[in-house]
Amino acid sequence: MTPDYNTLLLAIGLSGFCLSATLFASWLSARVERFLLSWAIGIGIIVAAVGVYSLYVENAGIGITCLAFVLQFGGFAFIYGAAYRFRTSRRGRWRIAAVFLASSAVSIPWIPFGLDGVALIALNLVIAATLVATAWEYWLGRAEAPLPLTGIVTLYVLVATSFVLCAGVLLEQRQWSIGHAPDNWAENLNLIAAILGITGIGAMSLALNQWRIAGAHQRTAMTDALTGLLNRRALFDRYGEETVFAHRAAIAFDLDNFKAVNDQYGHAAGDAVLKCFAEVLVEACGTGVCIARLGGEEFVVVMDRAVLDRVARVAERIRADFAARLIPIGKGSINCTVSAGIAFGSDTGLSFDALLSNADKALYTSKHNGRNRVSLAA
Ligand code: GH3
Ligand code: MG
Ligand code: MG
Repeated sequence: MTPDYNTLLLAIGLSGFCLSATLFASWLSARVERFLLSWAIGIGIIVAAVGVYSLYVENAGIGITCLAFVLQFGGFAFIYGAAYRFRTSRRGRWRIAAVFLASSAVSIPWIPFGLDGVALIALNLVIAATLVATAWEYWLGRAEAPLPLTGIVTLYVLVATSFVLCAGVLLEQRQWSIGHAPDNWAENLNLIAAILGITGIGAMSLALNQWRIAGAHQRTAMTDALTGLLNRRALFDRYGEETVFAHRAAIAFDLDNFKAVNDQYGHAAGDAVLKCFAEVLVEACGTGVCIARLGGEEFVVVMDRAVLDRVARVAERIRADFAARLIPIGKGSINCTVSAGIAFGSDTGLSFDALLSNADKALYTSKHNGRNRVSLAA
């Protein structure tokens, strides 16, 4: 055994240990992403496996060999579990157990018969398969963050390939029974790939974690907490700077006599009415339409490829559906109505502010004419 090999093992052990600790710490600081924890555990077990493997390099007794195998399978099963958890948010305990048991079942039984070479070939192949399955999970979820995820997939496939090469060399040399740790170019390549893989994947997993946390913050900042609709900031982020032409329309809504609902039934009842109206909006608008709560009891719907017929039909449906709703509040239930105003962009274009202001004027006309109606801007 060359000292180079042991140095590489030590490098894997150290880099793995540091990464496992870093990932564990970053999971502790914001316990959002459990996949980081699974990954940290997986790498932690692999570090232990590397420690045992270095003993196995010195003395390939049956016990040590089995332990080195079992730890590696456990570590890679957890790494697979982390990927599964990343994509699905499910724990995947059965999958982890299945990967671990299947890996052990196909390789360990050869060891007591002195066929450690066969066991090693099986070990390299099942670990490669586990790594490919891991890469596949990230590949399925790549839309979330294409760049880091494609990087992670590439690294997993690279490391998997190095395991296949290890199996290939043993197969080619027909080393069914070796009696010591294998020592060939593929083993060294495998260790180098593992160091690259552990550090690269670790760094990208951290980036991915940040990406997810930032995404969650972004969604919170853009969402109205009461109704789950977009808020004013999100609406202006999307449309605020755009010139509005004739194919875009806005419908402004304002609940009627809402202050009286609050005064008569309490603020919680008012909140229930707001949530109910948000539901009506979502049901009536379907997909491809932007719905936002501007604040208080004021809402706006923005429609593209808008023609008067369709926009008026949607506004009228929302008005009628809402008026027909019996809204449960505590002991009883109440009725409430909404007024609406429709405005369109123009052939020459106008600002989004001007569009909303026109819709508001039409809304005021509805209020003025007795509420619970839809009006079109002049
Ligand atoms: P109009 O028909 O003319 O629109 O009358 P209105 O009573 O609806 O109009 P006004 O603007 O006077 O009242 C709006 C009320 O909305 C005042 C405020 O207490 C209430 N409100 C604003 N935001 C919330 C909220 O988040 N929850 C509840 N429950 N009430 C809110
Ligand atoms: Mg109002
Ligand atoms: Mg109102």
